[in-house]
Amino acid sequence: MGYRMSFSTSADRPANKLAYGHAVVIGGSMAGLTAARVLLNHFERVTIIERDRLPAGPEFRKGVPQARHPHVLLLRGQQILEELFPGLRDELLDQDAVPINFGNEMHFQMMGKWLPHYQTEMEATACSRPLLEGAIRQRLAAYPQLSFCQESEVTGLVADMGGSWAGKRVTGVQIRSRSDGSTQEIAADLVIDASGRHSNAPAWLTALGYTPPQETTVNAFAGYATRIYECPADFAESWKILYVMPAAPENTRGGIILPLEGNRWHVCLVGMSGDYPPTDEESFLAFARSLPSDRIYEAIKDARPLTDPYGFRQAENRLRHYDELPRYLDGFLVFGDAVYALNPVYAQGMTVAAISTTTLDECLSQQRERNQDGDLSGLAAQFQKELGKVIMPPWQLATGEDMRWPATEGKKELGTGERLIQGYMGRVMRAMPHNVKVTDAFYHVQHMIAPPTLLMRPDILLQVVKTNMQLGRSA
Ligand SMILES: Cc1cc2nc3c(=O)[nH]c(=O)nc-3n(C[C@H](O)[C@H](O)[C@H](O)COP(=O)(O)OP(=O)(O)OC[C@H]3O[C@@H](n4cnc5c(N)ncnc54)[C@H](O)[C@@H]3O)c2cc1C
Repeated sequence: MGYRMSFSTSADRPANKLAYGHAVVIGGSMAGLTAARVLLNHFERVTIIERDRLPAGPEFRKGVPQARHPHVLLLRGQQILEELFPGLRDELLDQDAVPINFGNEMHFQMMGKWLPHYQTEMEATACSRPLLEGAIRQRLAAYPQLSFCQESEVTGLVADMGGSWAGKRVTGVQIRSRSDGSTQEIAADLVIDASGRHSNAPAWLTALGYTPPQETTVNAFAGYATRIYECPADFAESWKILYVMPAAPENTRGGIILPLEGNRWHVCLVGMSGDYPPTDEESFLAFARSLPSDRIYEAIKDARPLTDPYGFRQAENRLRHYDELPRYLDGFLVFGDAVYALNPVYAQGMTVAAISTTTLDECLSQQRERNQDGDLSGLAAQFQKELGKVIMPPWQLATGEDMRWPATEGKKELGTGERLIQGYMGRVMRAMPHNVKVTDAFYHVQHMIAPPTLLMRPDILLQVVKTNMQLGRSA
């Protein structure tokens, strides 16, 4: 479908001719880890600075609180990770991750109707977020030119002030040790901030005299409550994923059961428009029972819980417009959730981070072609502008859907084109339970392995129109 899938490799360059010296990545989570992998193709040395102590195995850590909740890796994300870390999927499967066929092993209720099951090549992998992150971390640890600086919090940027004119080029970061409180500076030619939704990059830029990015927030007041259960010994149904999707504008409640390694289930209840699912045992089950389908409740009512329910309520869409800064600090890039934090209901965050690594790789390769002497000026502006383009489709999908809820804050008046797309998407969803071709096209777009224009292709459009006409007649 025209998506770029291959990365430059250090093998593409003449021996010992990596273009740049030392890169620092702030944050050792999914965005930071995948960015670091690409940096290894261009830099002699890469350091990941992480405030947490990193566990040896697939364990939960405080710096990534969302890891208690299900993390679906969309197929495009899976493909890119496989490019970056060949054999990763098999490795995860060896560690008991669960293969899932989206056509016939996901039972998906959308707008009160179950989608059809069908044969497809779309094979995903379900596992806990700590298992995925741990496997990638281990792969990176095998590179001698990469090091982790753990229990160290970045507190600011260091820049070459270039005379009277505030900061021209980043030269490193300031860190504070979480174990003994000591502080130090780490020198770097490039700094990438991948410190997540609560990134302090706007304050760091302001401290150096730069204008921070404008922010756009669209909040549909989504909330999660997640509990892990043992998969019952007598479980004999054909689904591996059971998903009941909330349906705007009225049906605020939904939920999902996803398998994870160790014969367990992630059971996640979702509430929109501030109808937050509760985290005490009794009310958790009552909320599950109140969903438009009772199948999730029936599956878990006698199952053995292995954890308490954990809540998560800070799920608004927030975009920091680093692509529109009036002036850039050379050598300083912002990446991952630090730029875009998307409502997790659409499961896009890790995949968008993976796609962004291809942008980073391209920008670094082009920089090298433009400038042979290891100079990184201009990269920050180019990268953030390119990243802005990458983010737009997932941002529009998440915010467009969230704007269907009456209580959503940050709504804007839709233009004629947007209203037409929203109306058409409503018809696509109406057709899906009755039409395999439309469902299949939707899954391809949802998993970002086909562009959104697939849903407008004449053969799919015809199916959408035909099915809606049939439904209209039978209604
Ligand atoms: C409830 C929930 C469910 C989600 N479900 C999905 C899903 O199903 N599919 C999907 O693709 N995405 C999902 N996401 C999004 C996904 O978690 C993120 O997009 C993904 O983790 C990439 O984020 P990141 O690496 O940019 O930031 P984070 O994962 O937030 O990591 C930031 C890292 O930076 C470290 N850090 C922070 N500040 C500093 C500092 N000053 N110095 C040093 N280190 C620092 C933190 O300790 C952490 O390790 C979900 C998010 C939430 C909230």
